[in-house]
Amino acid sequence: MRRFIIRNRRAITVVTVIFMIALFAYLIYKTKQLGYGLYKNNTYPGSAFGTSVKTTIYDNDINKRDEASKLVIEDLRGLDERISYRVEGSEMALLNKNYEIDGLNKVSPDVASWINREIEISKETDGAFSPCILPLTQLWGIEDGNEEIPEASYIEDALPLVDSSGLEVVDSSVVIHEFGMGLDLGAVGKGVAADIVKEELDKCGVSGAVVSIGGTVLVYGDKGDNRPWHIGIRDPRGGIDDVLGVLDTEGNTVISTSGDYEQYFEKDGVRYHHIFDPRTGYPANNGLISVTIITPDGFLSDAMSTACFVMGLKDGLAYAEKKGVSAIFVTEDKKVYTTKDINKSFILKAKGYKLEK
Ligand code: ADP
Ligand code: MG
Repeated sequence: MRRFIIRNRRAITVVTVIFMIALFAYLIYKTKQLGYGLYKNNTYPGSAFGTSVKTTIYDNDINKRDEASKLVIEDLRGLDERISYRVEGSEMALLNKNYEIDGLNKVSPDVASWINREIEISKETDGAFSPCILPLTQLWGIEDGNEEIPEASYIEDALPLVDSSGLEVVDSSVVIHEFGMGLDLGAVGKGVAADIVKEELDKCGVSGAVVSIGGTVLVYGDKGDNRPWHIGIRDPRGGIDDVLGVLDTEGNTVISTSGDYEQYFEKDGVRYHHIFDPRTGYPANNGLISVTIITPDGFLSDAMSTACFVMGLKDGLAYAEKKGVSAIFVTEDKKVYTTKDINKSFILKAKGYKLEK
């Protein structure tokens, strides 16, 4: 044995060194995989868009984390004050109050581009989605605390006003063809906000973040452990913290959920919620109770969660597949349908639901 070692001294040294390097590399890999390489993080509560905002920033620099969280909330409030029609003096409130019929009503270039994209989605969904849903939102008053079932004749009168063919965008101006029309960007506001926050986080240079704005969640960058983010999708019949299931996703994704549980009232056992079918004038009533859309484009994610909720399971799923976004649909009989691409990365957790393949 001794003779063998002396004779092969050099080979044994080489093998030992290679073994040590391999072991070292494996330990680094394992440490990262187990999450020991996780960046430090802080969670900052806040509010904007009439809902709660939770910002968790991952970065080893505390100053960067604090600074980014401040800028995120400032951005959200700034956008809310520009595009919420309920905020007096906001760009949207002024447009709705002062527009000249058939004239060029100037708005900021980004607002014009959002309205333009909404008109596109309205066309692609055969009018299931409408940027000018305001007359219906106001008639039903569901988010204004004076909720009631409007008289059928009022609903009938509102239908031509919520048809987006009466609306155009020319350069940076909005052209409105019918008196009584009004714009409500409620269906896309949080998605636009997620896009703006993403740009802000890029500028701040933080490593990772999760920003949830009501039902819209931005997942940004990475948390340092080379693992996907696990994001809970809300149980539409559970409480605020109850999870339907968990989705594994990459950084730079926006996850928006629209459902019949956010804003509603009940009368004679019927639930009247805040997402309307612009073609009937009534809350969408097609057997869906929530729709989640997952895509890097925040605007698209938010717009499509509302649009698909109105379209129903069959047309909504087909539209999601066509647009190349991931989606989770939940029906009132508690069946869960997903687009094919996420049937492995979405894990159903809530009891009583069934995942349909
Ligand atoms: P939330 O923003 O409440 O989480 P959504 O993204 O689904 O949920 O947006 C719902 C809002 O969109 C409503 O409050 C209303 O302002 C507006 N809205 C309702 N129905 C439609 C529709 N068919 N098309 C476009 N916007 C709609
Ligand atoms: Mg939406």
